[in-house]
Amino acid sequence: MLHSQLRESILAGSQMKKDIHPTYYPEATVRCACGQTWKTGSTKPEFEIEICSHCHPFYTGKAKLIDTAGRVDRYQRMVEKAKTFKNAKRKKTAADND
Ligand SMILES: [Zn+2]
Repeated sequence: MLHSQLRESILAGSQMKKDIHPTYYPEATVRCACGQTWKTGSTKPEFEIEICSHCHPFYTGKAKLIDTAGRVDRYQRMVEKAKTFKNAKRKKTAADND
């Protein structure tokens, strides 16, 4: 069944029992924290969400790190330190072989 057909039959109530279903709003408004709004079918006339396909990093391709207590910073410093250490070690070994 096509979505539009399903929606029509829901609206007509032809296949639904009476008094057991919540009110269906076929044009409910969804509002995202990023400012995007669109319409959908819902049992609430309108509702708000925190993240959507317009602002989620998976869809935007942009990394959005929520850094609590500078942990990302600390990790990146650690990675840098490890690299320097590795390079120093390699140089030393090369010098020993000469
Ligand atoms: Zn959004």
